[in-house]
Amino acid sequence: MRQGEVASKGAWAGNPQGGVKAPAPLLLPDPATRFARTAARLESLAHLHPMADWLRFMARLAQAQHAAAIMPPPTETPDQARVDQAVTARMPPLAADDHARTKAWRNGLATLLDRLAQNPMPATASSVIAQLRARDENAVEALADNFLHGGLGVADAGAAMYVAAALQVYFTRLAASLHAPGLRLLPQRGLCPCCGSTPVAGVITASGPAPGTRYLYCSLCGTAWNHVRAVCITCGGSRSVSLEGIEGDTGAARAETCNECHTYAKMLYQAKDMQVDPFADDLATLALDVLVGEAGWSRHAANPLVLVGT
Ligand SMILES: [Zn+2]
Ligand SMILES: [Zn+2]
Repeated sequence: MRQGEVASKGAWAGNPQGGVKAPAPLLLPDPATRFARTAARLESLAHLHPMADWLRFMARLAQAQHAAAIMPPPTETPDQARVDQAVTARMPPLAADDHARTKAWRNGLATLLDRLAQNPMPATASSVIAQLRARDENAVEALADNFLHGGLGVADAGAAMYVAAALQVYFTRLAASLHAPGLRLLPQRGLCPCCGSTPVAGVITASGPAPGTRYLYCSLCGTAWNHVRAVCITCGGSRSVSLEGIEGDTGAARAETCNECHTYAKMLYQAKDMQVDPFADDLATLALDVLVGEAGWSRHAANPLVLVGT
């Protein structure tokens, strides 16, 4: 980067002195690229994939999220004094289960559903969307509350995917409006420093100023934060952490298992594939979840877009 240029959000911070630099503790998401990138990666992973139709549907959902993510007006910036207060108390400033949502998220949901309707959809998806559109705003807010508090009923699982997708857009835009240097990692290193949610997956970098760094990606707001490697992201144990994979695949996705708490989390290796995207690659590697699930490990936390059957 030349002098005078400004680093874009999500980019590696340059070091004016050059040389080796400690990895940035966290990278805020960029709403202009977060969902578009996932959509493109899903399209590419769908090729010759046994779940191609589903992955292409999820790609269209990500494209619809992108349309909502770049929609004006800009997100209202959270109150700085409240953000500072939370950071000082080592709490997430946008705590997903406590944050007072504005109706902007429901506008995003409407944009997302309109965009999805532009293409033919499976009959079940059309019916779920029609039922969701028929709900009044209080019922939709209640769905969002239930999703964020982990209290969703089975009957709402279908509609919840679209609500979760819209909340991802809303929280991604909010997180992007924060000022990264003013934030701190939480004492619970496995949780997002912006919104306190669990990660969807981790990425081990092979580029940037500190290759080999592990970043966990928030399942809700898309913030990435540094987490030491070979330490269980659920319990912090390191005595019996190992990697499991599917024989014969590219090696880009591995399940990091822990025999202290019997959970696993997915890790993606840029060294094997520079294009890995935590949101897309998680969906395209459900076979790995099945493999380690059958071997007795429980997933550290659900992907919010795959709540059915979890
Ligand atoms: Zn988050
Ligand atoms: Zn553990």
